[in-house]
Amino acid sequence: MFEDYHIVFKERQFKKWAFKEAMGSLGEQERIKRPHVVVFPCPGQGHMNPLMEFAKRLAYRNLHVTFIVTERVKKQIIQAREGADAHVQLPNIKIETISDGLSSDCEETKDVDMIIDLLRKVGGLAFERLIERLNSQGDTVSCIVYDSLMSWIPHIANKFKVPSAFFWTQSCAVYSIYYHFYTGMVKANNEEENVRAVIEIPGLPQLCQSDMPSFLQSSNPYGSLLQLVMNQFSTISQATWILGNSFNELEMREIQYMDSLIPIRTVGPLVPSAFIEGNNPQDQDVGIHLWKAENCIEWLNTKEASTVVYVSFGSLAILSKEQIIEIAIGLRNSRHSFLWVIRPDQKNEENTNVDDFLKDFLQETIDQGLVVSWCPQMAVLNHPSVGMFVTHCGWNSTLESLCSGLPVLTFSQWSDQTTNSKYVEEVWKTGIRLNKTTHGLVGRDEVEKSIKTITESEQGVEMRKNALQWKTLAKDAMMKGGSSDKNIDWFIHEVIATIAMA
Ligand code: UDP
Repeated sequence: MFEDYHIVFKERQFKKWAFKEAMGSLGEQERIKRPHVVVFPCPGQGHMNPLMEFAKRLAYRNLHVTFIVTERVKKQIIQAREGADAHVQLPNIKIETISDGLSSDCEETKDVDMIIDLLRKVGGLAFERLIERLNSQGDTVSCIVYDSLMSWIPHIANKFKVPSAFFWTQSCAVYSIYYHFYTGMVKANNEEENVRAVIEIPGLPQLCQSDMPSFLQSSNPYGSLLQLVMNQFSTISQATWILGNSFNELEMREIQYMDSLIPIRTVGPLVPSAFIEGNNPQDQDVGIHLWKAENCIEWLNTKEASTVVYVSFGSLAILSKEQIIEIAIGLRNSRHSFLWVIRPDQKNEENTNVDDFLKDFLQETIDQGLVVSWCPQMAVLNHPSVGMFVTHCGWNSTLESLCSGLPVLTFSQWSDQTTNSKYVEEVWKTGIRLNKTTHGLVGRDEVEKSIKTITESEQGVEMRKNALQWKTLAKDAMMKGGSSDKNIDWFIHEVIATIAMA
């Protein structure tokens, strides 16, 4: 099956090259109608953000973009904006909604399996109807950029004879790891006693089981999510292009090695333009938050340079009450100012009384810290007062820390976060991992000690220096002529060439 895939892939590449050659490069572009790209992310903050930022880069280059969100997500965005509609800076981006099969009034669900299944069944049909509508009103769809988790999209794209781009929202290292497991080139190691055994994957550093994405570890309680992750590769051969949110300089060996198997073009790091290449200085925010982004900038303005510890565990992680208490006391004991994001949905049934604890804690630390439900993270990370980031190491947060030149303390929860933490500590050397006790908790002393390692030790100075170097490289990649900028241009030329060929 995989050999077939490689033949198909190479033939397709060859046809494209042959076509370009016959065209005498792409000089015909001017005669071609402005391409219309439909961008379809999974309905989660960590998926919508990079795809929206990619959509903005296409729109900035004058392509016409339709960005798809589900009705429930749209409702949540509007709620977060206190009634105002989703707002995106660029006029070339239109937001369309489709049903995901969940009633818009239903309780917020975190059952990823169910969300994806309904999105496939109900969302798939709604998506087909949307493409029909866009085509019939003269807004002919030229290409679909889809979140790789939605492995049924290439089938729909083929039905409409439209090319599609598989968009990978995690690191290229993780792309490589999953691909090797999917193809059976590396076998899952399910024996508890082998947790320290080294796993060798070309192009990657040596990994042990705890460095692998959590779905591949023997302790993985999410069997169906592993299936979902693996499914991404089942239709990859039907996609016309493969794009990823990373940059060549960051994952050179991983990308080079994957070039010989199933090449990925990197177009990141995808963060608001004002914080990276600066093509669009007004663009300081992704514009589609699921929770109201509270204004903490004024509070940050009152703090001295590089003194604040910013703490956030992304849009999905739920910490136990015990863990919240340990982090709180560790932060307090570090004596540093802190800005901590605790989402409203953090306070579920298992976390009853967390509010009571936090009320007392915040009273006690009123001069030291601020807790918010959500914030404009890139603006916070780039505020001069912020000196370090305590993060769960979701891929977006990891890239955002690198783009902001900040050292990090990592507290991975699941999925790819374990692998990202390994890279942060051992490959990019911009941070350290928090160690858990045998009960799986990170204790208050560990939190305090690790914050001090970053803020007060020579090691911390090194990490900051490294992070600033990555910041420069990340910026260079997205600036005119940089590796990711060229890949975005390449992608646009490919789309245009395909339209010309149709
Ligand atoms: N984020 C934000 N405000 C917050 C916390 C997070 O804007 O208060 C954004 C963050 O900048 C990132 C995304 O939410 O782009 C989270 O994605 P990530 O991959 O880091 O983690 P996930 O939520 O998928 O676990």
